[in-house]
Amino acid sequence: MDNSLAGYELLFDGLAFVVGAAVGSFLNVCIYRLPLDLSVNKPRWSFCPSCKKEIPFHQNIPLVSWLFLRGRCANCGSRIAFRYFAVELLTALLFLCVWKFFPWQMAIAYWVFVSLLIVATFIDFEHFIIPDEITIGGTVLGVVASFLVPALMATDERWRAVVTSALSAVLGYVVLWVVLEAGKKAFGKKRIKLEAPTPFTWTRKGDDADFVVGEEQGLWSDYFARESDQLILHCDEAILDDRQLSGVDLRFHYDRVKIGGEEVALDTLGRISGVVRELEIPREAMGRGDLKFLAAIGAFLGWRAVLFSIFAGSLLGSLVGLATLVIGKRVWSAKLPFGPYLAFGGLTWLFFGETLVRWYTGFFNP
Ligand SMILES: [Zn+2]
Repeated sequence: MDNSLAGYELLFDGLAFVVGAAVGSFLNVCIYRLPLDLSVNKPRWSFCPSCKKEIPFHQNIPLVSWLFLRGRCANCGSRIAFRYFAVELLTALLFLCVWKFFPWQMAIAYWVFVSLLIVATFIDFEHFIIPDEITIGGTVLGVVASFLVPALMATDERWRAVVTSALSAVLGYVVLWVVLEAGKKAFGKKRIKLEAPTPFTWTRKGDDADFVVGEEQGLWSDYFARESDQLILHCDEAILDDRQLSGVDLRFHYDRVKIGGEEVALDTLGRISGVVRELEIPREAMGRGDLKFLAAIGAFLGWRAVLFSIFAGSLLGSLVGLATLVIGKRVWSAKLPFGPYLAFGGLTWLFFGETLVRWYTGFFNP
């Protein structure tokens, strides 16, 4: 390669990195705002999460600003999480790798894909959900990308690529759904029969609540890993604010309680108490968000990536689970996001899938 070509290549590599850092800065906004249902483009400008002051654009240069301000807000001096810097750097590096690995049309599609993975991962770690904007939106983007760049589905026919992409998305959803249902059958809920009828209280505390059953004391949010999780109390008697009931089952979701056919938002209640005989608490399980997330991975990477992501994700998830168990940091097992592990599987497939397939087929057909 002569010098001018090498120069161009370096220029474009640098550009890919800078674009990645800038996109990473936007992803930070998504990670912060999506789970709170705030708009990602209103207000237009970033603001300090602590003092809410707008951050002027010269203090909002990806990577550079965080380093210069030493991770503090220039206005109020409060710490700005290292996450902001980490997300920008990670996005920049992944954009560069994708750019080096793939032809430019595919690279641009995969830039979108890794952006989705990053947002999903960081939101899931913090909030134990993956918003529909990322999962359903990502699935649609994957199918559209396959139409525009059929090479994503290893073909040069547009409609074949679209069908393959859509079917891979469906496969992702269905396979994980089967795993999820089987898991529920196997582990399901944890039923706890109390030795004797035991008093319990639920007391609002800001956005959360204190939940006490006999000697057991915990934060309400700790019992719920997923939107679909249910905590059921079989009560001898229950008092909701000033309403008295006897011999009822209270079926709680994180934010509401069902009593018979009636549903009451927990927002409207200050205190629930009573006497409980038996309770059912949710076990760690994947939520619907994970199913839709795997669909998005399938739409971008195809059906083999779906199977690989489940395999690699479960493997890594078990290793991490085992490690935290050994270290003893795992107090409550309900909170274990699966999204980040699926993202790990998808990312591994993106860069090493072809190599793995070659190695695998070579292994069995030498
Ligand atoms: Zn501030």
